[in-house]
Amino acid sequence: SGFCEATGIYYSKREHLKLPADPSLTLPKFIFHHQRVHPTATAYIDATTGASLSYGQLKSQVFSLAAGMSSFGVQPGDVVFILSPNSIAFAVSLLATMACGAIATTTNPLNTPSEIAKQASDSRAKFFVSPPSLISKLPKLVPLILLKDLDMNDLEHLGLANKSPKKSLELDRQTLASLLAKRGFPRFATFSELLQSKNSLVSLDSCGRQDDTAALLYSSGTTGTSKGVIITHRNFIAQVQTMTHIEGIIPWASSIYMCIIPMFHVYGMACFVCALLAKGSTVVLQQRFDLVETLRTIEKYRITHAPVVPPVLIALAKSPVVQKFDLSSLVAVGSGAAPLGKDVMDAFTKRFPNVYLPQGYGLTESTAVGANSATPEEARQYGSAGLIAPNMEFKIVDVDSRALLPPNQRGEIWMRGPTIMKGYFSNPGETATVLDREGWLHTGDLGYVNEDGFVYIVDRLKELIKYKGFQVAPAELVAMLLSHPMILDAAVIPFPDQEAGQIPHAFIVRDKQSALMEEDVIKYVADQVAPYKKIRRVTFVPSIPKSASGKILRGELIKIANSRL
Ligand code: AMP
Repeated sequence: SGFCEATGIYYSKREHLKLPADPSLTLPKFIFHHQRVHPTATAYIDATTGASLSYGQLKSQVFSLAAGMSSFGVQPGDVVFILSPNSIAFAVSLLATMACGAIATTTNPLNTPSEIAKQASDSRAKFFVSPPSLISKLPKLVPLILLKDLDMNDLEHLGLANKSPKKSLELDRQTLASLLAKRGFPRFATFSELLQSKNSLVSLDSCGRQDDTAALLYSSGTTGTSKGVIITHRNFIAQVQTMTHIEGIIPWASSIYMCIIPMFHVYGMACFVCALLAKGSTVVLQQRFDLVETLRTIEKYRITHAPVVPPVLIALAKSPVVQKFDLSSLVAVGSGAAPLGKDVMDAFTKRFPNVYLPQGYGLTESTAVGANSATPEEARQYGSAGLIAPNMEFKIVDVDSRALLPPNQRGEIWMRGPTIMKGYFSNPGETATVLDREGWLHTGDLGYVNEDGFVYIVDRLKELIKYKGFQVAPAELVAMLLSHPMILDAAVIPFPDQEAGQIPHAFIVRDKQSALMEEDVIKYVADQVAPYKKIRRVTFVPSIPKSASGKILRGELIKIANSRL
């Protein structure tokens, strides 16, 4: 199992990986120095637009954009907020931000302007990068980098121009500048302008060190609301090594990966903007999951590998339309970010007997993968999230006594290793609750390691809800519910759902005088949050069951929810 009785620690059974020593190595330099790929090989294809980028172009764009961003004023240590669905320009901007020593922060483009403004202010973002279609969600008075040149349709969409049959408006730079200034963006540059700017003053060689922050990715952790997870270049470099260390199983350079997992999430970022580029695979991007589109993409591009989240896997396993497509190119369909039921795995392998189903487990706080199954043989350990990742250590800690548990006993998973975050940004209090002095991350997940070293995730001790793999923080929803004049007390817990994994379920104590109904509660929250955070079930209760210390008794709420069924 890798368990050592003397220390109570589970050690990784995988080979130890040596991290690069050079302190001035940034993630982009690591990715591109590492590569042994022909410059004409395809790095990215955007399945929506058909656009593609070779490895030669990718490398030159990343470093040209970094120089352009520097000339636009981005300095080492500045936070750059990238708001975008998956796109080639998103990937390039992310690496360029890191290459010029700046820090990227990202979020779900479905989030509302106030959710985005909150993260922008918390992360102290100084620059925004976004496609024209999303700039109406950005805070005002910030310098803006547009991922795409504005055209008439964009201007119409932004209410900056009327549809003219002749499309006669000359879109020269000055016109654009004054239109954008009207919308509150005092300064802007486009992706293509920055790629061309020649900035001889900036030497990217001296920008950034391995230990510097590369990204602030937001996660609610084990309690409360969203916080910025500090991920360093070194964390990412270690994660690239984790994701790619297995040689001989995946022929990286001839593999074609489908990227449907969002790049704004740690998993999408580490896998599709870091690890696969270091190995020279081809990445085919999709902006969002639409079953038929996804099937078409797999068929058209002869996708070999498709890391997905459980709802996509469920659709592949069960939907009849799947049979209409030639999916014979598929070698592996991976799953991570949330638990995967055994029935789904069975249905999937029945339909795709030659496709293996690797799994992974990890958190934003561990820069993605902390355990995974990599080979077809490991993937056959159904229900397991795989073996402890290279260089990682696990402890399984008894929830009450804090004793360190041997194989097959359930406890809280603690992880330590080179991919563990530095802490939460500007939040020493929250950092101390999850990261102890010896560097152990207390994950808030309940699980065990079996006698062969396979990790099993059983339940979540923390409050987090995962809707289709997306984080929903109950504390944020509770705060919103409590702002309703007719709601006296509230709690939100996950409710199991076949398709989404979990949905937010609210328990409400309403004012006795009020006629507040389930749909009123649902609408009240839906009007203020991104769609994936909506409350989808409501139960009215006379009081929220709490312990003597005021802690919500979630077990009691689950009983109430079940008795309602
Ligand atoms: P995030 O920071 O958004 O990646 O969310 C991390 C959380 O997702 C973990 O703490 C787990 O609760 C959950 N999670 C991730 N991978 C798995 C998995 N393979 N099985 C069960 N839960 C998972």
